[in-house]
Amino acid sequence: PAGEPEPAVLATIDLAAIRHNVALLRERAGGAAVMVVVKADGYGHGAAACAAAALQAGAREIGVATIDEALALRAAGIRAPILAWLHAPEAQFLEEQFRDALEADIALGVSSIAQARAVRAIAATRARPVRVDLKLDTGLARNGAPPAEWAPVMRELAAAERESGLRVRGLFSHLACADEPWHPLNDVQAARFREGVVLARRLGLTPSVNHLANSAAALTRPDLAFDMVRAGIASYGLTPIPALGGLGLRPALALGARIALTKRIGAGDGVSYGHAWAAERAGTVALVPMGYADGLPRALSGRFSVRIGGRRYPAVGRICMDQFLVDLGDNPDGVRAGDIAALIGSTPLDNTLQGWSDELGTITYELATLLRGRTARAYT
Ligand code: PLP
Repeated sequence: PAGEPEPAVLATIDLAAIRHNVALLRERAGGAAVMVVVKADGYGHGAAACAAAALQAGAREIGVATIDEALALRAAGIRAPILAWLHAPEAQFLEEQFRDALEADIALGVSSIAQARAVRAIAATRARPVRVDLKLDTGLARNGAPPAEWAPVMRELAAAERESGLRVRGLFSHLACADEPWHPLNDVQAARFREGVVLARRLGLTPSVNHLANSAAALTRPDLAFDMVRAGIASYGLTPIPALGGLGLRPALALGARIALTKRIGAGDGVSYGHAWAAERAGTVALVPMGYADGLPRALSGRFSVRIGGRRYPAVGRICMDQFLVDLGDNPDGVRAGDIAALIGSTPLDNTLQGWSDELGTITYELATLLRGRTARAYT
């Protein structure tokens, strides 16, 4: 509303880009359905808005890690199927959380005998159907039942199916090396997964929506798509395999901050903590009110530029908790307080999350999910 101050740091998320990416994933996945993964607040892009855009573009389901994330989506009005797969180990919280989840019609990823028992006990007391997807560890060694537990967990769930409205809708698993499409482990994991499906059928289950592929596999290994793919990073337009380039995806995120002030500095004046940078000659610096508390990695200090208007200016000195400085030199363009410093964008002059990830030796997943703190979001 008029009269309210503009946010100092603004992430702008292009929902048309998300719809484009989901459409592309649907095309690449062949006949398989697409689950869009919006854990960690939509990889830093905002879970509910991104989920809604993905569903508009034909995503069939939404995936999250925790039940709390799933409940937040329900509270925000997302009515599509939601699967949550990472649960507290303690029995008392497990039952309580499962009850809340089922009340909100959230499907549960089950990874252990303890979880299977908990959901069986709750399903026995409920009139409404209970949907479970059984998570198998086929080689990532993270959550998911290890092979030695497959048969006991499946028997537990088959017994639950016979006595209640519980239904094991599908099996799923997660790949360890999907960003190397022809890594032999992908096929090893897929073969183990197929064995899991066969075993489940032999033990009386009828899983019909099985899913293994993440973004990388969805885009490069259509033969591993099974009945559904679970795409996170690609939905936001970030490539899961940097060596293969953008893969036709459109990054949804732009990030800008409003310059808080400009000030003159003299030749030799040091700037920010440790005076890691000093001006060679007299000039002007601009203060940008974003720091590592807002998700700008301190390790980028002295290693990036920003775009102001149509020109790039180097960020100088150390990134602080809440602010950093930009060297405007003799400020030929008359940059002033209130002007926008673009940090991430899509013009050729802009930084990209991929570029920063390459610079820092990390992945876009990490940089995107760091954007918290005081960063406001707008959707276009
Ligand atoms: N499936 C599971 C179980 C995950 O944990 C994740 C995210 O790490 C995904 C799918 C989505 O992966 P990506 O963002 O690489 O598509």
